[in-house]
Amino acid sequence: MDIKDKYIMALDQGTTSSRAIIFNHNAEIVASAQKPFEQIFPRPGWVEHDASEIWYTQSSVAAEAVARANLTGLDIACIGITNQRETTIVWDRETSLPVYNAIVWQDRRTADYCEELKAAGHAEMIREKTGLIIDAYFSATKIKWILDHIEGVRERAEKGKLCFGTVDSWLVWKFTRGRTHVTDVTNAARTMLFNIHTMEWDEELLRLFDIPRALLPEVKQSSEVYSETATTLFSTKIPISGMAGDQQAALFGQLCVEPGMTKTTYGTGCFVMMNTGGEPVTSRNNMLTTIGWKIGGQVTYALEGSVFVGGAVIQWLRDGLKVIASAQETGELAASVDDSGGVVFVPALTGLGAPYWDQYARGAILGLTRGTTAAHITRAALEGIAFEVHDVIEAMLQDVKYPATEMRVDGGAVANDFLMQFQADIDRRGVVRPKILETTALGAAYLAGLAVGYWRDIDEIRGHAQTDRRFEPQLDAGQVRKLLDRWHKAVDRARGWAE
Ligand code: ADP
Repeated sequence: MDIKDKYIMALDQGTTSSRAIIFNHNAEIVASAQKPFEQIFPRPGWVEHDASEIWYTQSSVAAEAVARANLTGLDIACIGITNQRETTIVWDRETSLPVYNAIVWQDRRTADYCEELKAAGHAEMIREKTGLIIDAYFSATKIKWILDHIEGVRERAEKGKLCFGTVDSWLVWKFTRGRTHVTDVTNAARTMLFNIHTMEWDEELLRLFDIPRALLPEVKQSSEVYSETATTLFSTKIPISGMAGDQQAALFGQLCVEPGMTKTTYGTGCFVMMNTGGEPVTSRNNMLTTIGWKIGGQVTYALEGSVFVGGAVIQWLRDGLKVIASAQETGELAASVDDSGGVVFVPALTGLGAPYWDQYARGAILGLTRGTTAAHITRAALEGIAFEVHDVIEAMLQDVKYPATEMRVDGGAVANDFLMQFQADIDRRGVVRPKILETTALGAAYLAGLAVGYWRDIDEIRGHAQTDRRFEPQLDAGQVRKLLDRWHKAVDRARGWAE
């Protein structure tokens, strides 16, 4: 069979569900399957997953997607993996059994230890080496917690009997029945143990966190054949040939392959990532420096900034304030008024992320009058999401030398045309919404497909990418200036509120 007649399977292992999507050579979705799994909250601030359940759900949706597409394993050219980042699993090399539940990226149990690290003056060194700001999100302190708290684990780790991995590593280990212990550079870059300049695990950091080297996986490129599946699930062996963390996979899936190109994912929160080319850029505005991918020996770096509350503010309008019945109706409601009637909504419901980093900021609705309606407040909430994203992108643009380009978008809230148009208006740049919004899975498929020659190169892939709609800026510079001034005035009022 010609490889072009085959299909690619992307495994998208997310925070709340495991999914598998099958793409054809035109990068179209042929079939998909999805299974949620349990979120475990043992104590306030702790979040765990059962690593075995991650494996069961992921392997079963893989089989289900193949069946739904009426294919067999022989039709699958290769597998690409994308995953929730930073989530930490430690397992036994012999038995493949996890020694503890997966500690999820959201878990805050090591927050106090992170404060100690900052107080002890390690922030600069860690920032310099890893591109990260010390935080409990990243894997290092979670690994240390497992080593320090689960009986016998440190000793077994030192004897080389255990493996650490993020979810990508764990899945490859399970799919290969323990033959392959690898991760890719994008996942390694989120551990806070990986030096993004030397592209190696960093000895000084391993000493600081007291983590034995023997635990760690081999770090590979984002696109290369790592191994083949063992013949447990499919009757044939299938190469696993692409891996990247979810945000990086989305950046690649959006084909943001030139420096300056940016994608934003509008989900519960908003995640902005900008390709910065072959050189890591150190942000003066508190953005994270990270690795976009490594392909053909070439490393591409990226800047990353997150907004904590994006689409979540729409959930709050629906479930908290109860002024709307569904997220879908917000676009029409917002467009039913000419403007927000002077109302500004700062969606800082859980503090402000980049570029403000103010955990004491709180949500604020300002400018209310007797004429204010639910439509004005809804419109202001949507505008608030766009303003937040705007501030992150402006901060990134101050860090880099590139001119701004159009922004590519994905995530649940990009269905909202009003939001997309307003984003284009205040950014004064085009906003491009692709036809396939499954950009994360698509990115994993592209990475895997390139490694086995399913697609020749990025140019060939570009030929398959389709735009759904392009939003062009319509407001003039003066109007935009006024809107932004009013927004920043409102942000000032919201900052430090809960101090
Ligand atoms: P996540 O992956 O973070 O769970 P999704 O990408 O599925 O999020 O997006 C869901 C979010 O998008 C929700 O917060 C929801 O309120 C918001 N959302 C969905 N549809 C719309 C819409 N038409 N307008 C505005 N927000 C929306």
